[in-house]
Amino acid sequence: MLDTPVPTLAQLNGIGALQQPTYDDPQAVDDVVTRLRGLPPLVFAGECDELTAKLGAVARGEAFLLQGGDCAETFAGVTADNVRNKLRVLLQMAVVLTYAASVPVVKLGRLAGQYAKPRSSDSETRDGITLPAYRGDAINGYDFTPESRRPDPERLLEVYHSSAATLNLVRAFVTGGYADLRQVHTWNTDFVKGSEVGGRYESLAKEIDAAMRFMAAIGADPDEFHRVDFHSSHEALLLPYEHAMTRIDSRTQTPYNVSAHFVWIGERTRQLDGAHVEYFSRIKNPIGCKLGPSASADDALALAAKLNPENVPGRLTFITRFGAGKIRDGLPHLVEKVAAAGVEVAWVCDPMHGNTFESDNGYKTRRFDDVLEEVQGFFDVHRAAGTWPGGILVEMTGDDVTECIGGGEDITAADLVHRYESVVDPRLNRVQSLELAFLVAEMLRQ
Ligand code: PEP
Ligand code: MN
Repeated sequence: MLDTPVPTLAQLNGIGALQQPTYDDPQAVDDVVTRLRGLPPLVFAGECDELTAKLGAVARGEAFLLQGGDCAETFAGVTADNVRNKLRVLLQMAVVLTYAASVPVVKLGRLAGQYAKPRSSDSETRDGITLPAYRGDAINGYDFTPESRRPDPERLLEVYHSSAATLNLVRAFVTGGYADLRQVHTWNTDFVKGSEVGGRYESLAKEIDAAMRFMAAIGADPDEFHRVDFHSSHEALLLPYEHAMTRIDSRTQTPYNVSAHFVWIGERTRQLDGAHVEYFSRIKNPIGCKLGPSASADDALALAAKLNPENVPGRLTFITRFGAGKIRDGLPHLVEKVAAAGVEVAWVCDPMHGNTFESDNGYKTRRFDDVLEEVQGFFDVHRAAGTWPGGILVEMTGDDVTECIGGGEDITAADLVHRYESVVDPRLNRVQSLELAFLVAEMLRQ
């Protein structure tokens, strides 16, 4: 443990930070970091605290977390249509979960900052040519050329500006009328035709309309009908950026990461003595930590002790990502031991990252049925342990892409060629996302 409120970037790098790019010009990185330090915060510390309180309700079993967005955002993807489409599906999913399961839903976008990706290999080879792997728009370009793949620190400024533009649009949508519950039908337009799940949603929206007419008739018009609380999140992977966006809150003199409300530690960077865990232990935001099949119960307990020593409910979320075939065997011991130790944690299921495989025609994909099976396993394990299955983290998009196999439209491996647009992992499309919400609502109701 270092004895400063936040270690310096040099100290963090000295601890050994995994998954960082190698820049040619360290001075250029320092210059960018200095410029970032002078830019305004993207979120306020008080908003982060509000989210901690909401996640406290998740930890206590009183609310459910819906976290979703792209695996990797791109700078080119910062358009009004793209952001609106993603938000629209998240709002639809949230309404389905809230109405069909009568559970408060905490809404968290995996957006406005999700630009850096951990990779299992540092390089990529195509037709005998080897170049650095694409690590997300925060670091290098997707095009397979030496110039594009060279890590460029100037990109960190574009991360900031793209995040600011996205968050600004999201804030306008959620408070400016678009998220008004009277819009439940509007969110479904250009969707109903031809889609079974769109029709199902339309019926639910009619019920909500009737309930709202009833409320209006008795003179009730709560603020909650007209706006939603929505927060931002990303994996805080790239330490120069995250460190530059860390500020001391003037109210409490404590450090917050002001680039997002919620940040999480990925599966590849959760070493107890690593730089990421050290950094996360110092910030006051609500935080997440991924736990895959290699995580032992003792690892989870040690992480909780370091990341949430005061055992504050809502401060720490464990996001499990075992894979459909492993969750029923691997998760029970973890959950039971953590619960027996009295550790306050929100448990969330990431049913995506343990279920990725390469199709015969060469696409990185996932089966909708595996995603569903992992969520079902998650619910079953928590129900058996007497703990609360607190939420889901999904990689999804508002567009009709063909990246995951299955679902009501029965996308096949051969269909992947039509609209595969993700630059890293395959996302649920609009129909698959909404279908998942209906199925999870059923699990919640049981
Ligand atoms: C991710 O959430 O995109 C990711 C890389 O997950 P994990 O760290 O669990 O592999
Ligand atoms: Mn991913």
